[in-house]
Amino acid sequence: MALIKDILQTMEYGPSPESNDHIIAWLGQHEVGFGHFIDGKFTDPAVGASFEVTNPANGAALARVALGTADDVDRAVAAAARAFKSWSKLSGHERARHLYALARHIQKRDRFLAVLESMDNGKPIRESRDIDIPLVARHFYHHAGWAELIESEMPGHQPVGVCGQIIPWNFPLLMLAWKIAPALAAGNTVVLKPAEQTPLTALAFAEICREAGLPDGVVNIVTGEGETGAALVGHPGVGKIAFTGSTEVGRIIRRATAGSGKKLSLELGGKSPFIVFDDADLDSAVEGLVDAIWFNQGEVCCAGSRLLVQEGIAEKLYAKLRARMQTLRVGDPLDKSTDIGAVVSTEQLERIGSLVAKGKQEGADVFQPSIPMPAKGCFFLPTLMTGVAPASTVATVEIFGPVLVAMTFRTPDEAVALANNTRFGLAASVWSENINRSLDVAARIKAGVVWINATNLFDAAAGFGGYRESGFGREGGREGLYEYLVPDHGKPAKGKQAARPVLNAAPSSMTAVAVSSDAIDRTAKLYVGGKQARPDSGYSYAVVSPAGKTAGQAGLGNRKDIRNAVEAAAMAGNWGAATAHNRAQILYYIAENLSARAAEFEARLRSMTGASAKDAATEVAASIRRTFFYAGFADKHDGAVHSTKSRHVTLAMNEPFGIMGLVCPDEAPLLGFVSLVMPTLAAGNRVIAVPSARYPLAATDFYQLLDTSDVPAGVVSIVTGETSGLARMLAEHDEVAALWDFGSAGGTGPVETASAGNLKPVWGGGMRDWASPDSQGREFLRRATQVKNIWVPYGE
Ligand code: NDP
Repeated sequence: MALIKDILQTMEYGPSPESNDHIIAWLGQHEVGFGHFIDGKFTDPAVGASFEVTNPANGAALARVALGTADDVDRAVAAAARAFKSWSKLSGHERARHLYALARHIQKRDRFLAVLESMDNGKPIRESRDIDIPLVARHFYHHAGWAELIESEMPGHQPVGVCGQIIPWNFPLLMLAWKIAPALAAGNTVVLKPAEQTPLTALAFAEICREAGLPDGVVNIVTGEGETGAALVGHPGVGKIAFTGSTEVGRIIRRATAGSGKKLSLELGGKSPFIVFDDADLDSAVEGLVDAIWFNQGEVCCAGSRLLVQEGIAEKLYAKLRARMQTLRVGDPLDKSTDIGAVVSTEQLERIGSLVAKGKQEGADVFQPSIPMPAKGCFFLPTLMTGVAPASTVATVEIFGPVLVAMTFRTPDEAVALANNTRFGLAASVWSENINRSLDVAARIKAGVVWINATNLFDAAAGFGGYRESGFGREGGREGLYEYLVPDHGKPAKGKQAARPVLNAAPSSMTAVAVSSDAIDRTAKLYVGGKQARPDSGYSYAVVSPAGKTAGQAGLGNRKDIRNAVEAAAMAGNWGAATAHNRAQILYYIAENLSARAAEFEARLRSMTGASAKDAATEVAASIRRTFFYAGFADKHDGAVHSTKSRHVTLAMNEPFGIMGLVCPDEAPLLGFVSLVMPTLAAGNRVIAVPSARYPLAATDFYQLLDTSDVPAGVVSIVTGETSGLARMLAEHDEVAALWDFGSAGGTGPVETASAGNLKPVWGGGMRDWASPDSQGREFLRRATQVKNIWVPYGE
């Protein structure tokens, strides 16, 4: 054995294994295998198929676990539906007591859960003990608080019902907590499917639910594989799906839930930039990189896996990094001095290896330290790839392993361009001693979380989630809770949508609405880039009133018109950067001009829809009020500064999506249009609006108001035509970041399916009472923005 005086010379770490006796004993008690946890009881493991769960660090079998079938899912959903009746009726305080009890019991079992997690997943005990499990308890405590406060803080909302939750293997218990805690706080019940590689802490959690006295059926856990998850996604009794995992499966789930009315939140992959400027504290940045990409073996959706370093300091940083890599310890996850544990499975190990080989083939320089490696088990050396081209495979796909790829940049603009050169948008880390520069870059990066001079910080009080193909919806914080609530008026208004008109370019056989002899025939064109534009097709269709008279002509827009509108919107990016005050002024101006031309719009509504004079006047007046409402709100949809960690400010910014598509309803052709366009503009988005196909002329008259109200060119485009087709084109366009569809035939199903390619959030649904106060307010502003959390540490 080494003498202490020698150790003090070398500072070598000796072995420091964590005992796993308690876990071995617990697994021994479950030697016959684990059944599903349904209605507060474990099902009989002897019934049905099962699969083996192994320890990736040594290949040892840990347990046998039931393979969930559609029947199992069905029974679990039925149990959750039964439990929902009473759970959702409990007062917030009563639910808070349950969540508090869960948090306490998790804390009392923290060492047990940490060791079990490390054995099941392969992550170092240091991380499961100091990061995963404390955050699990924190989530339950935080949401015990929300359960208590929900009635006063989120009035007018109710739980969704039964939530189906599907989680991956990288943070098994933490992902469970991120899903279950907010769902329960909001009054929902859940059926959760853990990943097949790592179901054991979820099963231990099931036992904790019993131990803590959680009512039966509130939490149900069905183990299994992809098909089990698919059965849960497809189950008609489920009101919401929350998924974390790969973008590919996220797409499958988007398609599978399209048109079902299920709420959906997707937390998917990432390829997050780690940007180091030449004035950064390089030693800190190196430690940051260790936490960014070698934490959890790099199996982290928000891992800082793309190092972007300013050219002048690149070689210096790489040298420091290589030296630090040489001191990383790869090995037994249960050893307290291990930095990098085992990758979750042999499949994942092979995937990482093949991607690194591909990087080499594509010309990258690969560095791996010469450090001891365990003789067996799923281990991968920490890897640095330099000289990587931005378009190469390793720079673009999520490797999900301990592999860092590095590129250089010269200017902050170039850094931002490289950072945003990805289809993902989950997280970013910015390193500079210049706070002005850091915040500027943070604001310009398209990602849900940005850490300044820090990385991989999480807290239950701050929402977490992505932009673009990293998914939508947030977990944690206030915004995370809304994912598990629906407004009381959330159900579509009763009534049947009228059959869609067939839009035909042939001359109408209907007689025209009588026009006064001095009126000049006016053709409504499209409105693109601040100008009236003929439709690309060259076709128009007759707009026919309910009385069967032709009220005018509108253009038949097509894909090219949508593309032109998006191009014009892309050039109008300053709109989001304008002050909210400035946007408010323009909205007030629109309202002023609408008021001045109220009579004209009333006449249009009457001739087009056959509305009475009173109803037309009411709709125009409501449209003016609504425009005022959002002008007033433009500078009041504030973000927040969250109370997360000490000596940090966590800024939750409500950022506009960018370019939004709005498909407007037939009911209330003017008020519906205004109700969608105004909140999105107030929030700083640029808009491509598709007016009601049946009654488009109030919206096309509107461009005269836009022209005279100082609305910059490209901020609003109006494309008339067949709404369902145009909605699909907006859904498919990569530059359209979010879509509201209140006007497609047959609901949002087809556009949700079409949106699976780029995974934009889609919101909409059936008929609404647009005159109701429920059709305006914060819900619309929340849907017009996405929260970006910027973490700024302070202190020396
Ligand atoms: P998946 O996305 O396949 O798995 C995530 C969860 O979804 C698991 O519980 C899985 O079940 C389940 N699932 C799989 N298919 C379906 C389906 N059709 N319907 C419903 N649920 C389904 O990730 P993998 O585990 O296969 O990992 C593949 C790659 O994904 C990784 O290499 C990594 O790049 C990325 N990944 C990203 C994560 C992130 O957080 N960003 C997390 C995990 C993986 P089962 O476990 O049985 O397959």
